[in-house]
Amino acid sequence: MIQRTSTQTPLIRRQIARQLKEQIILGSALIKFRGPIVKGWLNLRYAQCRKGNCQCTKGRPHGPFLYATMRVKGKNVYRYVGKTDDGSLVRQIKDYQDFRQKLARLRKLSSEIDSQYRKLESKLTRPAT
Ligand SMILES: [Zn+2]
Repeated sequence: MIQRTSTQTPLIRRQIARQLKEQIILGSALIKFRGPIVKGWLNLRYAQCRKGNCQCTKGRPHGPFLYATMRVKGKNVYRYVGKTDDGSLVRQIKDYQDFRQKLARLRKLSSEIDSQYRKLESKLTRPAT
């Protein structure tokens, strides 16, 4: 007896193939990180010196200046980085952010691929007689 293939299986197969390609791209990017990377976040802040007649006392604060927030022994530590963003700490923090973002996408993708395989399995399975 000829089994009719579900019309959805080519779609599911294409979807899985696309996701596997993205998984390889992400995985390859992740293993290329050489480190060190620093667990931290970058933010811009304005500051006030409050000196005499300075512009900052009239609502025009200095900056923005770049600050790094890092986790050190379970505590948040703030460090002034300055106006430039080409320092190695900045790069290491950006690498951390980039790494985490790619890793999060990879994990989400893995779970999506798993669910596609389950779908495929259910489409391919016929009741035993
Ligand atoms: Zn000032």
